[in-house]
Amino acid sequence: MGIHRAEFLCSSQKWEQCPTPDRGEVAFIGRSNVGKSSLINMLTRHGALAKVSGTPGKTQLINHFLIDNDWYLVDLPGYGFAKISKKGRASLEQMIKGYVANRENLYCLFILLDVRHEPQRIDVEFMQWAAEQGVAIALIMTKADKLSKTALPKQVAAYREALLEYWEECPPMFVSSAEKGIGRDEIIEFIESFIHGGGEE
Ligand code: GDP
Repeated sequence: MGIHRAEFLCSSQKWEQCPTPDRGEVAFIGRSNVGKSSLINMLTRHGALAKVSGTPGKTQLINHFLIDNDWYLVDLPGYGFAKISKKGRASLEQMIKGYVANRENLYCLFILLDVRHEPQRIDVEFMQWAAEQGVAIALIMTKADKLSKTALPKQVAAYREALLEYWEECPPMFVSSAEKGIGRDEIIEFIESFIHGGGEE
C-alpha cells in the first residue's frame, strides 16, 4: 500500500491523445489555486511532480503520471479562470469535458474545493455534470490547516449540508492539507480500493 514511485509520463491536449487506457486511473480537478498541484506532490511525496504555480491557468494540459508502474494519476487543468479569454475558456472546458466523458479507465474524479469557501455555483455545476456522465466523484476539501480545529469540522459539515440540497447523498468527502500532510493515507487507501478492489465497497 502507499505510493512509492511516481513519474511524469506525458501531457495531452485531448483525451484521444492520452496513453492507452490499459490501466486504471484517477484524476484531480479544481478551480485554479485550490491547491491541486500541492496535493498531488503531497500524495506522491514528490516535491515537484506537479508544478505549484503562482500563475493561475498555467497548466492547461492533461498530465499523466505513472504510479508504481501500476496506475495513472491525472492532473487536469483547473477550471474557472478569470484571466483567460472566453475562447480559451471554451476550449479548455471542451478538453476537460471530453476527457471526463470519454476516458474509459477513469475510476474516480477527485474534485478539489478550498475548505474555507462556501459551495460555489461553478463547482456544484461541475459536480452535477460529472455525476451525470456516470463517473464516480469524490470531494477533497483542501488547505485544512487554514482553519482551526473547531472551525474545520463545522465547515465540512456545512458544506455537506449545502450539497444535500442538490443531492440525496453526498459524494465521499476527504479533508487534506498539503502543508501538514493531512488526508494522505485516507485518499491513497480510497484510490487503492478502486485500483485493486474494483471500486468503493
Ligand atoms: P493549484 O493552482 O490548484 O495547483 O494550486 P497550488 O498547489 O499551486 O497552490 C496554490 C497556493 O495555495 C500556493 O500558494 C500554495 O502554497 C497554497 N497551498 C496549497 N495547498 C495548501 C495547503 O494545504 N495549505 C496551505 N496553507 N496552503 C496551501
